[in-house]
Formats: sequence, C-alpha cells, structure tokens
Amino acid sequence: MTPKNYILLGPPGSGKSTQAELLREVLNLRHIDIGSELRAVAEEDTPFGRALNDIIHRQHMLASDDIMKTVFEQAIRRVPETQGILLDGAPRRSSQIDEVLQVFQSVNRSVSKVIFIDLPEAESISRISKRYLCFGCRRPYILGKDLLTADVACSVCGGKIGQRKDDTTEGVRKRFQIFQSETLPVIEYFEKEGLLLRIDGKREAPAIFQDIREKINMA
Ligand SMILES: [Zn+2]
Repeated sequence: MTPKNYILLGPPGSGKSTQAELLREVLNLRHIDIGSELRAVAEEDTPFGRALNDIIHRQHMLASDDIMKTVFEQAIRRVPETQGILLDGAPRRSSQIDEVLQVFQSVNRSVSKVIFIDLPEAESISRISKRYLCFGCRRPYILGKDLLTADVACSVCGGKIGQRKDDTTEGVRKRFQIFQSETLPVIEYFEKEGLLLRIDGKREAPAIFQDIREKINMA
C-alpha cells in the first residue's frame, strides 16, 4: 500500500503539536516538524549548519524558503519508502507551496490531505494568554487551572512564574495576525485543490483527534 502523506496547519493555540503527536503514534507517520529540523541543523558543525545558526541566533531572522526546502529535503530522504509523513511547520506562506510540493515529488510522494485545525482569533488569544511557566525549571502552568494567580512561586523549584513574551495577549495577537496574512492563502490554495480537511479546533484534543481520523478515513 502506498503510504499517505499529510500536511498539518493551524494557528497558535490550535493544539497542533498534541494532534501531531497523536497522529504520529496512531497512524505510524513520520512527523517532520520544520521548526525542530531547522533548530537541529543549526546545531550541526557543517558549513550549512553554521550559516543557519548565524541566521537564527545572531541575525534573528527567519530561515528563507530555500533553507526550509533544503532542510525538508534532507529530512524526507531519511524516511523509509513504506512510511507515511506528517509535515508540520511548512508551507507557512504562499511562496513555499511549490517548494514543498516539489520536495514531495522528488521522492515520488504526493500530498494525500492537508489537515487544517481552525480556531478563531479570540479563542487563540484566550487559550495562549493563560499559558505560564516557571522561569527556573520550565514547568508549564495554566492560569485558572494550575494557578489562581501568577503571583506565586513554582511548586516544584520555588522559581519565578511568568509568561513567554510570545504568549502575552499582544504577542499572541501578533502571531495570529501573521498566521492570517501569511498562512491563510496557503489554506485557500489547498482548498481549491480539493485537499483540505477543515477541523473545528474549538474542542478538547480527543474530540479533535477523533474528527481528524474520521475525515481521513472518509477521504
Ligand atoms: Zn520551577
């Protein structure tokens, strides 16, 4: 049987990483997360790794479409022919669509479906702005669930609890807007191609996962 290949898309707070983990496990897919691939390559002591490290850590720039393509190519070649793929973190913008499709094609694969976990901006902001963590031991906390106020010390290490800059209301709003302006056109493209599975992300993770599985099986 030809293995299936999926692309996973969703705004901040959509629970994409939880779903990726479930899909990887249950469908035995190889999860290629472009963000982690980029960070791993940037640690390598090679000319490409050192150049990428410089871009990410010294120039604080996003990796270009070319770099994304190279890293994705390297990752996809390591996947056995018989195993399906779950691509996460690309294409982030229209200019990356062709590149991603070319890489799949170069190893004789095609995209079976694009899974889009849809979440409105208000929900994205309310979910992420509740995320706190201990700056000491990095233990995550959810405000209103694990914490009544952020004004307490970490129960594990006594460290200070706070928010990542990206997770403040302003930070999430900005990330969501980038998603809207850059990634929404990608979603529209795949919808026109008849490849899009739109999943309602306003539910708990198990319900979302069940929905994805049902839609994949029907497709
Ligand atoms: Zn701690």
